Amino acid sequence: MTHAVSLERVSCVFSSGKRSVTAVDDVSIDIEPGEFFTLLGPSGSGKTTCLRMIGGFTAPTAGQIRIHGEEVGDRPPYLRPVTTVFQDYALFPHMSVVENVAYSLRVRGVDRSQRERRAQELLEMVRLPEIGDRKPAQLSGGQRQRVALARALISEPRVLLLDEPLGALDLKLREQMQGELKELQRRLGITFVLVTHDQHEALSMSDRIGVFNRGRLEQVAAPGELYERPRTRFVAQFLGAANVLSGDEANRLSGRPAAVIRPERIRVGPAEGSRASGTVASVQYFGAFWRMAVARPGASDLLVDLGLDAARPAVGEPVHLWWDDAALHPLDEAA
Ligand code: ADP
Ligand code: MG
Repeated sequence: MTHAVSLERVSCVFSSGKRSVTAVDDVSIDIEPGEFFTLLGPSGSGKTTCLRMIGGFTAPTAGQIRIHGEEVGDRPPYLRPVTTVFQDYALFPHMSVVENVAYSLRVRGVDRSQRERRAQELLEMVRLPEIGDRKPAQLSGGQRQRVALARALISEPRVLLLDEPLGALDLKLREQMQGELKELQRRLGITFVLVTHDQHEALSMSDRIGVFNRGRLEQVAAPGELYERPRTRFVAQFLGAANVLSGDEANRLSGRPAAVIRPERIRVGPAEGSRASGTVASVQYFGAFWRMAVARPGASDLLVDLGLDAARPAVGEPVHLWWDDAALHPLDEAA
């Protein structure tokens, strides 16, 4: 099968004067047609640069990029079968919503009535049928986001590139739009490549996620796999709360120099047969659960999440901790 997007040993080094920054470092990824693929990582890890290279806005300094099997080389953005939705949406402020959405059709010389009809269809698809006459400044953040999406989709790209598309929205709206964006992608069946630094967003929307750290791709996997079986300490910690065990303890319990266990996999139980023991150092309320930090002499603290119905030990109390073997996952590296 031909990949929708294929990066083969792609690097991007920015140089100015004597200084140079390796923004993307020897990254290879194959993204399949119809896949929702997310580039996830902290700020400055190279996600945007990677997306810009796929879109044709930044040239790789090494490696090859193919889109649907064709090497795109230095082909400009408008000659690639991809469309980019930028972080700031980049709507034209002096144009109405309909004109914004229809823009790429106008450039291609499609006549007015036809392009306006098509723009209206797209606005209905993103559930904004009534606002075609307004200017971008008269829209809410969520509406602007949808207009940018409609504008990108009108040219029927085979691949849609989205750079932190929900970053400007408040939490409630962001969660709603995550669902809508995912649903839209499923309905249209086109390939989405999304950039985000938000692990919840990545986990809830993606078919697969590639985790970036300092320009390198640390791991590519489906959300559940990435969360349950991270390969490195970085991936384990970036995707949520993680207890990383190391040294003798990791060796004894997992047979490897480092291993990870999620706080929600640990429970409190009797001393006899427990895996670890310590003293409750703090208990914090998180709404859906309580998070307890357990201090252990000569070993790292452990975070333990307790369900709201579980008995809650007090600060200073000794506790004995239990978990199932399968919950402890060995890491590739020494921690
Ligand atoms: P992210 O999107 O993950 O936050 P970026 O791809 O924007 O990361 O940036 C990766 C690194 O490359 C950062 O260190 C950033 O400062 C640097 N960088 C990005 N664009 C440029 C540029 N045009 N010139 C110089 N350095 C850049
Ligand atoms: Mg970025």
